[in-house]
Amino acid sequence: MITRTPIAVHREAESRAPAAWQHQLREVIRDPRVLCQRLGLDPALLPGASAGHALFPVRVPEAYLARIRHADPYDPLLRQVLPLAAEQDAVGGFVADPLAEREHTPRPGLIHKYAGRVLLIASPTCAINCRYCFRRHFPYAEHAPSMREWDASLDYLRGDASIREVILSGGDPLASPDRRLAELVARLEAIPHLQRLRIHSRLPVVIPDRVDTALLDWLGGTRLQKVMVLHINHAQEIDAAVVDACRRLAAAGVTLLNQSVLLRGINDRVDTLAELSERLFAAGVLPYYLHVLDPVSGAAHFDVDDDSARALVAALRERLPGFLMPRLVREIPGEASKTPL
Ligand code: SF4
Repeated sequence: MITRTPIAVHREAESRAPAAWQHQLREVIRDPRVLCQRLGLDPALLPGASAGHALFPVRVPEAYLARIRHADPYDPLLRQVLPLAAEQDAVGGFVADPLAEREHTPRPGLIHKYAGRVLLIASPTCAINCRYCFRRHFPYAEHAPSMREWDASLDYLRGDASIREVILSGGDPLASPDRRLAELVARLEAIPHLQRLRIHSRLPVVIPDRVDTALLDWLGGTRLQKVMVLHINHAQEIDAAVVDACRRLAAAGVTLLNQSVLLRGINDRVDTLAELSERLFAAGVLPYYLHVLDPVSGAAHFDVDDDSARALVAALRERLPGFLMPRLVREIPGEASKTPL
């Protein structure tokens, strides 16, 4: 019989206790009324917010809320999370599945669009619901496999030696518990032809406490090369805690990139984009992509037309060194890669 010491019992209990980030994830603001009240916003915004919330629910972590200016309906972070009445408008060309992802899912939870890499939906949920999200209508319930159901995806990966890279996406893959992610990554790294693990996540930005020891243990320990693509749209999102989270990821051997979405009323000014690139680099993150909006229904009010987008990027090029320039791209369903504008 194995006798456990009091320290072992304590450690076991600790490992079962929810981590700080899980507590914050559980406590995200889910009610547009609470969001408006907490930020001292005009109650006249509430009917529109409630209507948009019915289409795609509000989710805002406290750590993100703390970076939003009080009583400012035009705050660039608030605009990313506050539903507006305009989300109900039907606009031509804006559809539920703008990237036709449902045509590229050979297994539940596995999207294979591009040569050499596949995307696994590692978690059906996000810490934050971004109003412009191209997956706001994605049927996550049909694409949230259990560990046993990963077997089909892993068989698919084993059977195609041309696949070098696995992208964990979601939802937000880091919304999954570390034990589950560590097990998945252990199974991935046992596939000899896989070389890279890429993680697309907004969690280190919206709940920086997500980058804790448990995460760094499995991420730092894998033989796979590690890339994390963060999603930051405005310099105001990068506070001291985010910088600290980025530094810890980099120290674990993770290459950090950022992708942004060009959003009307949020970051469609040269000064704003220049400041974003500067702040990203100061945090050890390279600007990677600036996406034009994917035409998802409910988000047309964020759209910036192509000519304005090109003019912005041309002006940005005059302000920044080349390595701070994100690539302006559009994703077109069926294309072999992102399309530069
Ligand atoms: S975190 Fe990413 S996947 Fe989640 S709602 Fe925002 S944009 Fe969409």
